Amino acid sequence: MPEPAILAVALPTPLRKTFDYLAATEPAATSGADTWVGCRVAVRFGQQRLVGIVVAVKQNSPVDPARLRPIEQRLDLTPLLPNELLELCQWTANYYHHPLGEVLATALPAGLKLGEAAERTPVKAWQLTTAGCQAAPQSLARSPRQRALLEELQQRHQAGQELVLHSDLLQIGFQNSNLKSLQDKQLLTRQQANYSPDRSQPLLRQEPLALNPDQASALEQIDFSGFATYLLHGTTGSGKTEVYLQAIATVLAAGQQALLLIPEIGLTPQMLKRFQLRFNRPLTIIHSGLSDGERKQAWLDASNGDTDIIIGTRSAVFTPLPRPGIIIIDEEHDLSFKQQDGLRYSARDLAVIRAQKLQIPLLLGSATPSLESLCNAYNQRFQLLQLPHRAGAANPPAIELIDLKRQALLEGISQTALDSIDQRLEAAEQVLVFINRRGFAPTLMCHDCGWIAQCAHCDARLTVHQQPNHLHCHHCDHQRSPIKRCPNCHSLQLNCLGQGTERAETVLRERFPQYPVLRVDRDSTSRKHAMQSILDQVNRGEPCILVGTQMLAKGHHFANVTLAVILDADSGMFSTDFRGPERMGQLLIQVAGRSGRASKPGKVLIQTHLGDHPLLQTLLRQGYSEFAKLQLRERQLTQLPPYRYLALLRAESKRPENAIELLNLARQLALACHPAVPQMSYLGPLPAPMERRNQRFRYQLQINAGSRAQLHHLLQQLLPQLEQSALSRRARWSVDIDPQDMS
Ligand code: ADP
Ligand code: ZN
Ligand code: ZN
Repeated sequence: MPEPAILAVALPTPLRKTFDYLAATEPAATSGADTWVGCRVAVRFGQQRLVGIVVAVKQNSPVDPARLRPIEQRLDLTPLLPNELLELCQWTANYYHHPLGEVLATALPAGLKLGEAAERTPVKAWQLTTAGCQAAPQSLARSPRQRALLEELQQRHQAGQELVLHSDLLQIGFQNSNLKSLQDKQLLTRQQANYSPDRSQPLLRQEPLALNPDQASALEQIDFSGFATYLLHGTTGSGKTEVYLQAIATVLAAGQQALLLIPEIGLTPQMLKRFQLRFNRPLTIIHSGLSDGERKQAWLDASNGDTDIIIGTRSAVFTPLPRPGIIIIDEEHDLSFKQQDGLRYSARDLAVIRAQKLQIPLLLGSATPSLESLCNAYNQRFQLLQLPHRAGAANPPAIELIDLKRQALLEGISQTALDSIDQRLEAAEQVLVFINRRGFAPTLMCHDCGWIAQCAHCDARLTVHQQPNHLHCHHCDHQRSPIKRCPNCHSLQLNCLGQGTERAETVLRERFPQYPVLRVDRDSTSRKHAMQSILDQVNRGEPCILVGTQMLAKGHHFANVTLAVILDADSGMFSTDFRGPERMGQLLIQVAGRSGRASKPGKVLIQTHLGDHPLLQTLLRQGYSEFAKLQLRERQLTQLPPYRYLALLRAESKRPENAIELLNLARQLALACHPAVPQMSYLGPLPAPMERRNQRFRYQLQINAGSRAQLHHLLQQLLPQLEQSALSRRARWSVDIDPQDMS
């Protein structure tokens, strides 16, 4: 009998290596690398049974053959993970210095990761009955969601779409109960959709817009026949989405698939609807709100080539694409594309690698591109495409600064801003008030003795919330009942200092009682469909005030918002993070971009104490590109990314000395590998900006290198040594390559 093959298996363990097993149960004929690599196997690992992925078939193992164990079960007869994705995962593991098994676990949906069969369940869909086609939507006037659902289905029916996927309808904000009601009224019937989609229908369900010259030129410059990265820098409302739609049409017409990554799905149902309405081709949406079953289904649909358009958040960058045509990343500057724990990968940076391997174009879009991407564009690594004007009839909003020095404020809102809000509401228009802090007030202070309510577990203040009434630490989530009496001097004079969204909402309600005030933040939208119902109300177009955090800044198209007020532009300027000003600039431009997006002219008011600040002046007078250039020059002078390459070693422990000693050791080991020279510098161990969080003391060691290769070479030597040391087990520690958030 021939010797059984040896399989190198990547397992979800924190160890940075693969493990050898015998393929004993398999006939030799099927032991070739091409049939094994990419398949899942179940194996014994210590006392556990783990599911891993075969990454190579070998003839020899460094382990004594007598001690090699056979796999327990082969779970796939054909590779679940195509070679291309396996290579991407291998690249990811190397680049982020993370165990391959854990990278693979991130790439696979939960069910498949745990060993479920790679089989799909029938797809639920709906079809209008004859009665449903003929029913007048007004007859459902008493339940607006049912009415909207009927209108949606009739609209699609008229456009030739008979079957509508259940998941599509949930995606754009309808609920099971709405569907059930229409079914009970016999307006709808339940159907099963086919896996093999009908591609005989015309590609487009809806005429595309005629592109303006800038859009047309951007689209023309995209070469669909090979790899290149394009940075589409388009002002807010310049029609980037239309460029995406038409680029996708091109690849679909060639029989290929398109992958679109967006920051957050729940916030942008309108955008999803635009994609669903445009194409007569199967579209799959992948995000964290899906159940494990739905996620697996979506992944398998993509992998079987049964879906043509995949729209997803960060982890969707690992979706299999048997017929890849293009990858697009909308709002490429958004922080959500970088995972902040575990495998700290950047979906944008991985997309560059993946598109290159696949030899397809990558399109990165933003009104406020990251400095990294702009720098790549200036170095000609990316090709810059620009849409400097708003599309259609809209003009850019007029931006004004309100100097807060010596102004009388009503709970943080200036008289000038209040007057403008008044005017806009009187003119039946909508107003957006932006404040990047949820809760009522960030500080509770005793008027008599100066005591401040602190979190017991963090170096942080407790935020006062009034809806419901409590104190909340936004860093460790600790919550407690409200405090009425100062624990220090027993005074009852406790004051709320500073503004949050709840406070702004309260003030605006009192000042403008005849208009609705809608608050949009993590608290007000945590209930399922809450965001949808707020958006529905805004989209009806009646005058109202929207108060909210950065959730309001992300990609929304509110046609009737003509005034955006930014209550506090200054916090980013004082940030300890070197990216603070960049993020502030992006946020200001994105919020400003929500104003005047349709035919009515828009205005933006920015409240600030730093009206003369050169960065703010450049941003407002000369625009984002000049602002970015100024920032880039500063980064070059201060030797920071994108001109240098960073890795952040973080360590935390209940006893501060454990974390500090570990990082001291890391520094010694690093210096032994590579002395501190201009090309390589070490900063730390230093306390993290918030030294104590959730009862742990946190420190960091920053490694700053002149070249990526040097940085990786160093980490390759350093990390295995660090792992070997006993100290490494006394603190939680992690490596962050290209850290985006230095906290
Ligand atoms: P962005 O993605 O850059 O924010 P959108 O694609 O959402 O911009 O476009 C903003 C608005 O302009 C939308 O209402 C869109 O329908 C409209 N629009 C985009 N391109 C055109 C065009 N070529 N002609 C007319 N209107 C357009
Ligand atoms: Zn007191
Ligand atoms: Zn806390």
